Amino acid sequence: MRFVVIAAVSFAAASAFAGTAEAAAPACANPSALGVARTVEIDTTGGPGFGLEHYKAYDFLQPREVVLTFDDGPQKFATEGVLAALAAECTKATFFTIGKMALGYPEIIREVAHAGHTVGTHTWSHKPIAKLKTFEEGRDEIERGISAVKRAVGGPVAPFFRFPTLVDTKAAVEYLGKRNIAMFSTDIDSFDFKLQPPDKLVQSVMDKLEKKGKGILLFHDIHKNTAKAIPLLLTALKDKGYKIVHLTAKAPLETLAEYDALIEKDTKGLPQVGADRPTSSVVKTISGEAPASETAPAEMAPPAAAQQQLTVAPAPTAPVAATPAVPAPSAPAAATEPTPAAAEPVIKASEATPAAPSPSPVATVGEPGTTASITPRAEGADSDKSGATKSYIELAKEFWDAWFGK
Ligand SMILES: [Zn+2]
Repeated sequence: MRFVVIAAVSFAAASAFAGTAEAAAPACANPSALGVARTVEIDTTGGPGFGLEHYKAYDFLQPREVVLTFDDGPQKFATEGVLAALAAECTKATFFTIGKMALGYPEIIREVAHAGHTVGTHTWSHKPIAKLKTFEEGRDEIERGISAVKRAVGGPVAPFFRFPTLVDTKAAVEYLGKRNIAMFSTDIDSFDFKLQPPDKLVQSVMDKLEKKGKGILLFHDIHKNTAKAIPLLLTALKDKGYKIVHLTAKAPLETLAEYDALIEKDTKGLPQVGADRPTSSVVKTISGEAPASETAPAEMAPPAAAQQQLTVAPAPTAPVAATPAVPAPSAPAAATEPTPAAAEPVIKASEATPAAPSPSPVATVGEPGTTASITPRAEGADSDKSGATKSYIELAKEFWDAWFGK
């Protein structure tokens, strides 16, 4: 039997928002780590686009520079595995997060933010915006996603957005431009939702990278296969002399009050106070075997998997009770995961490139260094019918079911 104790230790947020250059950067315990070669700060004024697959205005990466991006999370096991792999190599990535998922697993998206990664958004429920009947529906998907992720993180997020299935629309591109939100496509799509096992996935990505020489890589932190592949990928990148570029935003994204209010209705019980404390400072094993997450150095500790606690009725100053762990659905074996939605109909994307602000929106803020038609991609379609009256846990469960089946 294991006993847990709820400690009342305060934890100061180390970053102004999830995606600034000033975000937390714990000391690296691995002398041969891949690390971060360069951190860039992006001025998102006017909604610049990045990722040469679709947006060609800003080719900011130098030869052998790589940006790591992860979509569709957070998810139990997968995101946690990815975080542990990134921490072991002291490197940084950008997460394009689904609003529903973030509300379902707020402790995981907070781990992402606290580790110094950049948190962007990827809509509320992953509906392909180009297939929605009206612009208003698309705007709702975008804005609800932003407000939800901000609520789950417990602070502002980066004005970085990726379209579900990488398909934009002219109206949505214009809208994001007015909201000063940068759009991210990709240079190399890993197709990690279908390529297995991990070593095959890594080989495929490295082959593509060798041809292009650099690029923004796209993965999904909802697949266990991906989580298993990332340590291998980071080793391969290091062996081949690639360098990681970390994306940050010049300013945080302001949410819209009407969408914040909408999200608040969904999040009754989700704690605000203490939201920025790591699980290991709240829940400590005092009898029985402590998990690695408690005993490892803080900066290397993967999020606790077995005994994550979600306080559902927080007191004003401290969490009050150990509650049953988040009811995560049992994870299916990677080998049996159904591939989400096979090929989707090809939709010619907007050729429009967002107006280029001048000068370049990308500036290196780390070590000195140097200085954006959509191809639809098979990705999971969401079966949400609208969840204004459902709990955030139910919403996350629905999303999981849509991906992996019940
Ligand atoms: Zn996606």
